[in-house]
Amino acid sequence: MSDKNPATQRTECNFCTTTSTFASTRDRAEINSNVRKFADERFMVWRCETCRSIHSLDVVDLPYYYKDYPFQRQKADAGLRIISRNMLRRLRSSGFSEQSSLLDFGCGSGLFVEWLRRRGYGESHRFDAYTERFNDASALDRTYDFVMAQDVVEHVEDAGELLDQLIGLTTPGGAILIGTPNAEAIDLRNAEAHRHSLHQPYHLHVLSERVLRELGTSRGLRVERFYEVYYTDTFIPFANVRFQLHYARSLDNTLDLAFDPPHVSWRLLTPKSLGLAFFGRFFPVKTEMTFVFRKAV
Ligand SMILES: [Zn+2]
Repeated sequence: MSDKNPATQRTECNFCTTTSTFASTRDRAEINSNVRKFADERFMVWRCETCRSIHSLDVVDLPYYYKDYPFQRQKADAGLRIISRNMLRRLRSSGFSEQSSLLDFGCGSGLFVEWLRRRGYGESHRFDAYTERFNDASALDRTYDFVMAQDVVEHVEDAGELLDQLIGLTTPGGAILIGTPNAEAIDLRNAEAHRHSLHQPYHLHVLSERVLRELGTSRGLRVERFYEVYYTDTFIPFANVRFQLHYARSLDNTLDLAFDPPHVSWRLLTPKSLGLAFFGRFFPVKTEMTFVFRKAV
């Protein structure tokens, strides 16, 4: 925090041309990384008081932090099947079918596309600039009926540029699904409760609902659907966000827990844990939003 060189800090909101800056806002917090390897490191985040988006202040050496990124340990297990079904349901609600072509942009482990292909969605493709197996840019030489970017836009420096790229990859009349944390639902006075949505130092800019909506509509996209609940939130016992947050807090509260074998801790053997495991979905956490945009024909 001692380095005040502006070239290494995000002190102005890149979504607004206002005077709301890091220096002028009082809505800011310092929080620990939620990745185990860096859990002792603290990062400053601040909110633009005009558009309500949240920015990570310090520009850090991201390749250093992405080395051994926990998501690389994602496995095709029962949990992944449950959330994949949820994501597929959302896509189908917007017309996705076995005949549709799809690009999972920023696919990470790539397992969702593998799962789709096994279920007969043969025209499903993936791309991730940061995963060696999936960084073949030839996937970007064509257009798709559906382009999805789940947990991607908050990782980039220029969300507008990303949207332009996604639009360019979408067939006229096609759909673009963008899932990302919603800054408007994150209370920085209680930042610790939101450490997974803030996910420092990886989330460079957490967009507000109004900023993401505007980024889309100003580019001619129509908002077809808006979901205020994360696609990983289900009614299946234990597979809900409220329980998972409770589980994480009972342990070391890192993202790594999602990819560890299940930890059985006496602290979890409480009526509250069981209540959340079975009924947590009835009290949804609304910090993650999904927009489905439609590109004009
Ligand atoms: Zn702003």
